[in-house]
Amino acid sequence: MTDIIQLLPDNIANQIAAGEVIQRPASAVKELLENAVDAGATTIELMVNDAGKSLIQVIDNGKGMSGTDARMAFERHATSKIRQIDDLFHIRTMGFRGEALASIAAVAQVNLKTRRAIDETGTYIEIENSQVIKQEPVAWQTGTSICMKNLFFNVPARRNFLKSNAAELRHIIDEFIRVVLSFSDILFTLTSNGQQLFHLERGTLKQRIVQVLGSQYNSRLVNVHEKTDYLNIYGFVGKPETAKKTRGDQYLFVNNRYIRSPYLNHAVMTAYQEMITTDSFPLYVLFIDLDPAQIDVNVHPTKQEIKFEDEKIVYAFVQAAVKHALAQFSITPTLDFDLDPAIQQLEAVSKPMTAENREAATSSSLYQSFSQKNQAHFIESNRSELRDWKSYFEQDQSNQSVSVRSETTAFPVATAMTVDENGLMLQVHNSYILATTNRGFLLIDQQAAHERVLYEKYVQAALGRPVPTQRSLFPATLELSPQDKALLTDLLPDLHQLGYHVEPFGRDAFVIQGTPADIEQGNEKRSIEKLLEQFKHFSSDLKFSKREKLVRTLAAQNSISPGKGLSQKEMKQLVEELFTCAQPNITAGGKPAYIEFKKEYLEQLFRKA
Ligand code: ADP
Ligand code: MG
Repeated sequence: MTDIIQLLPDNIANQIAAGEVIQRPASAVKELLENAVDAGATTIELMVNDAGKSLIQVIDNGKGMSGTDARMAFERHATSKIRQIDDLFHIRTMGFRGEALASIAAVAQVNLKTRRAIDETGTYIEIENSQVIKQEPVAWQTGTSICMKNLFFNVPARRNFLKSNAAELRHIIDEFIRVVLSFSDILFTLTSNGQQLFHLERGTLKQRIVQVLGSQYNSRLVNVHEKTDYLNIYGFVGKPETAKKTRGDQYLFVNNRYIRSPYLNHAVMTAYQEMITTDSFPLYVLFIDLDPAQIDVNVHPTKQEIKFEDEKIVYAFVQAAVKHALAQFSITPTLDFDLDPAIQQLEAVSKPMTAENREAATSSSLYQSFSQKNQAHFIESNRSELRDWKSYFEQDQSNQSVSVRSETTAFPVATAMTVDENGLMLQVHNSYILATTNRGFLLIDQQAAHERVLYEKYVQAALGRPVPTQRSLFPATLELSPQDKALLTDLLPDLHQLGYHVEPFGRDAFVIQGTPADIEQGNEKRSIEKLLEQFKHFSSDLKFSKREKLVRTLAAQNSISPGKGLSQKEMKQLVEELFTCAQPNITAGGKPAYIEFKKEYLEQLFRKA
């Protein structure tokens, strides 16, 4: 037998490696723009033809390269940005792995013109299939021009994989916007097929946001700026009225790098709680700056994900900073600036971070503001419009622990709220329950309230008290794709605890032997399928354990829907169950379960106060 292992030729190895970095024209655009930023450019021009498929060119006025460096730049692992492993922990530049140009050179025809200020002539280089095919002196301004033609000309499979020009151009514009928002002191242009789409003058961040995202935001941006010794947060969030029904203008940057973080997105969204409906999305452009040592740099730079040393503390800071900013202008009367209970319970909030950071962080006013319950909006809030509303809240800052059983409250209650249990309850539009209390009335969202009740019940069940099961008379079988099969198998033990008795059956199927006794029977199969769907939907949210996701999914899925008529008895039972919950005011996902209208507020509305 002959040996069969061979080394791949360099150009093939490079093409394979390039696949990771350059997936589509927009990835090349991102890398080239970032290189120009790293080179200290103050003007960066981007030109594309055919959505970057035939041409991507970036011209910058940055520091340029020497002839040798220009050649070197295209070697794999060639970088001027780190020299030793330790540098990784202090890196401030956008790139550092030395892969981008090598990857681009492997999958496109590239030419480069560059000159440093100290050199008399510049360097021209032409590259194809990772080989330098021409190098000669050239007259060129200080800075660099990189031109890449015919992306994937030598990898037809990848080229065929590209989407329509319209779709690829959209990706390019997305990447462009992410870069231009983080560097408002750089002039950027974007030209597509000879038509200029963006010409962005240097200016402030606010001007840049308005230039890029639209002048409708001009008077509708709220400044966020919180400095602590651990991290700084700054940027802008849209006033609640700018919230849109579609996700879109939401940008988060860590050390000027755009990141996608469902977890921190959640922190921002909960800061808007009760100001916007849960199905709408506010604008935000937020920057978090912190010591690079607090971030895991081994996360691949082309992936827009990031790992923080202490994610929970970042979450809490972001949420508090946005709340604080919104409170500065907000006079929305029914607001109750409670911190997300999930955060209050976090160990990180009571015991912040590592020993070195702890002292610094706890001494910051922002930290103190959110570590004290209900104080998030009181910090430095001597703005006049706030002061008026403040007086309402101050009377009972402890109403967080609103409960019909006041002996269960954790801290002193000024005027404990009690639901008038003998009073009639009113169902509005078969969706909301109106219940009077000793100090006004409550408008309860029946679905959210039930979701909260189920959530706490399921949490209990997951901790040991199983939910009773009703056995199916005619057990349904469920056939699943390999992925769903793996997912369901993984969930089976937890599901069992929550009242779903599902067993493997043959290779790819399952039998549903029983479902929780208190949910409507008859659609067991659909219910499991839906559960898997929703669970997957949730899965990008990395902060939760599998069990927490499952419990949240089930609570949402099994809660009574809006539009369902309820009898007096059912309403009373729901309200009673709600107020025996540990955290009755919101769902686990942060939707309000009820809004309290206090008498004083009603009087104010009718100008009697
Ligand atoms: P990285 O950015 O990770 O270092 P790249 O492959 O993107 O790796 O670039 C390699 C090197 O080429 C950079 O470290 C830098 O020294 C140099 N370089 C790339 N683009 C430019 C540019 N526009 N101006 C000046 N130098 C550049
Ligand atoms: Mg780079």
